[in-house]
Amino acid sequence: MALWHKHCAPDVQSVDLSYDRPYLRPMAILPILEVPDPRLKTISTPVETFDADLKTLVDDMTETMYAAPGIGLAAIQVGVPKRLLVIDLQEEEGEGNEPVRNPRVFVNPEILDPSNEHSLYNEGCLSVPDQYAEVERPAQIRARWQDLDGTFHEETMTGLMATCLQHEMDHLEGILFIDHLSRLKRQMVLKKIEKARKMGGGHVHNEHCRH
Ligand SMILES: [Zn+2]
Repeated sequence: MALWHKHCAPDVQSVDLSYDRPYLRPMAILPILEVPDPRLKTISTPVETFDADLKTLVDDMTETMYAAPGIGLAAIQVGVPKRLLVIDLQEEEGEGNEPVRNPRVFVNPEILDPSNEHSLYNEGCLSVPDQYAEVERPAQIRARWQDLDGTFHEETMTGLMATCLQHEMDHLEGILFIDHLSRLKRQMVLKKIEKARKMGGGHVHNEHCRH
């Protein structure tokens, strides 16, 4: 999910990671797939191997999410069709108003008990650049997932966390937030993105920008 309420996305294409840390592999910022890339419609398959490669992928996804900047990223958004996602709402602010980082990893997530009560959030998505729309989803869910060691966890989630987890889990089924909109609205969003790309692919200003 895109971070829409704090600051606008800068055009980060790459970051120099060639700093001097000889014993650590620098984390990589991966290219994010954008609509209308057909790979975003893939149904992701379960993670079965909990190994070092999985940890590396999660590190890279986390770094990619922060660089975008976003608050959630599913593996398929970086072209990996596995049931895996990272989320960091970055709601807390530390010294100098910098968001405090607390990334969470969800492997093979499931929703057990969606509430009948719904909530409405203005959602954005790193794969649907600079576009936002209100989406209604269950306000509370019970989530079950595995961590990087394969251990199962369960938690009741509400508020933005519940929305963000459902948004990211949609990606695992090949569904984007714009698929929850009417056909007309969805086509308007896709046309706006196409137009922005033709104009040079730069940042598209909208009502959420603060600059
Ligand atoms: Zn998304």
